[in-house]
Amino acid sequence: MDQMGKSTEPEVFDLTILGAGPTGMFGAFYAGMREMSCKLIDALPQAGGQITALYPQKKIFDTPGFPAIVGKDLVENLFEQAGQWDTKFALGERAETLRRVPLPGGEPDEEGWVIGTTKGDHYSRAVIIAAGIGAFRPVKLPNESVDQFEGKGLDYFVRDIGKFADKRVLIVGGGDSAVDWALAAEPIAEHVTLIHRRPGFRAHDNSVNQLNESSVEVKIHHELREIQGDGHVERAVIFDNRTDEETTIDVDATVLSLGFKADLGPIRKWGLETIGRRYIRVNNKMETNLPNVYAAGDLALQDDLEPLNLIVVGYGQVTVAVNYAYVAIKPGEKVFPGHSSEKMADK
Ligand SMILES: Cc1cc2nc3c(=O)[nH]c(=O)nc-3n(C[C@H](O)[C@H](O)[C@H](O)COP(=O)(O)OP(=O)(O)OC[C@H]3O[C@@H](n4cnc5c(N)ncnc54)[C@H](O)[C@@H]3O)c2cc1C
Repeated sequence: MDQMGKSTEPEVFDLTILGAGPTGMFGAFYAGMREMSCKLIDALPQAGGQITALYPQKKIFDTPGFPAIVGKDLVENLFEQAGQWDTKFALGERAETLRRVPLPGGEPDEEGWVIGTTKGDHYSRAVIIAAGIGAFRPVKLPNESVDQFEGKGLDYFVRDIGKFADKRVLIVGGGDSAVDWALAAEPIAEHVTLIHRRPGFRAHDNSVNQLNESSVEVKIHHELREIQGDGHVERAVIFDNRTDEETTIDVDATVLSLGFKADLGPIRKWGLETIGRRYIRVNNKMETNLPNVYAAGDLALQDDLEPLNLIVVGYGQVTVAVNYAYVAIKPGEKVFPGHSSEKMADK
């Protein structure tokens, strides 16, 4: 109890899903349909996994029900579907540890799991690991003058474009995200500069055409050398990589959009049986060797199968995992969840 008499015990969720990629998000929807409390953890500050980090603007043609859908639109739909329930999102947290513990507030012999992340502990009765190819981290510039401004006007990911209203913004990068953020910031920012070290952009043609018609000041063959400011981004020193000629521009915000790297890292140390270096071994119920810990999506594999790393396979696997997790924590219940068309008719 705290001084106000309120319980300070951490909340215990029925299910915690590690990874808010397509597999994890669809799993959260299913958990909600089964009336399980559910939390999703992801290292990225935004949901969507590989789709968000690697190909937000690409069209996906093999998602059932959508002859073609742009990646970021699919992510938005999945987010809306998962968000119909009281799903908790713990984004921007990298999971480091998984430990079996007595559950806070539980029966004396009731054990569950605690996932330790870079920001805290998350308690759960069951866990689904849907960590794909690993935790995404933004690629950073090996440059101390730039690093020290992280969170002080320098970002690697833009969650709320509105913060650029009336600001002078510098965006660094040549992929879809860099071009998209430049285009999104342009109507509200005072000025947007986009620099890219190469002559051509690796972005969707349509976006590049829009960029060329916009007021965004585009500087190709340019790189970032230094950020200056008194505790916050105030100026950026950029240079032409053909001549080394420097220019200093006044900026209020800088976004480094240099791509992402994925790393399975800590998950390998959790005592999970693996197949090779990339896969967690699961059975037909998507159970791992740890009690009430399941795996689904790109990193789950059964002994006798070849990897089939596709979004639709992850949806199927996580549906199996959620329903078996449900009966594991509620013995005597049915694995079959009923039909959504009937269960959700009144929603
Ligand atoms: C360029 C490209 C195009 C593709 N096109 C298609 C296509 O057309 N059709 C198709 O079906 N598939 C396609 N795929 C494959 C598809 O994207 C994957 O199969 C799918 O994203 C797997 O989903 P997932 O949720 O299992 O994993 P991921 O999408 O990898 O998501 C896993 C999430 O877990 C998080 N995570 C991992 N470890 C941790 C940790 N320790 N702490 C916190 N968070 C963690 C990661 O940050 C990530 O967000 C494509 C892939 C690529 C790269």
